[in-house]
Amino acid sequence: MKYLIWLVIILLAIWAYKRSRRPAQPPADKTPAPATPSNMVGCAHCGLHLPQEEAVTGEKGLYCSTEHRSAAQDRNPV
Ligand SMILES: [Zn+2]
Repeated sequence: MKYLIWLVIILLAIWAYKRSRRPAQPPADKTPAPATPSNMVGCAHCGLHLPQEEAVTGEKGLYCSTEHRSAAQDRNPV
């Protein structure tokens, strides 16, 4: 019984020693900044929403594809 007590004390000492050596990990609360949401625009022909950089520009508005731009009888203003 006496050895068991010593064993527990030694194990506690080892545990405390390891615990003191390892610095507590700070909580990883740094969430990565969310990607900036691209501006969503609707197709002037079918109403499909898509990012503005993927939209096809027409004189009357923005379209999801060149087919819809031509279907809306619009043309590229450039
Ligand atoms: Zn469309």
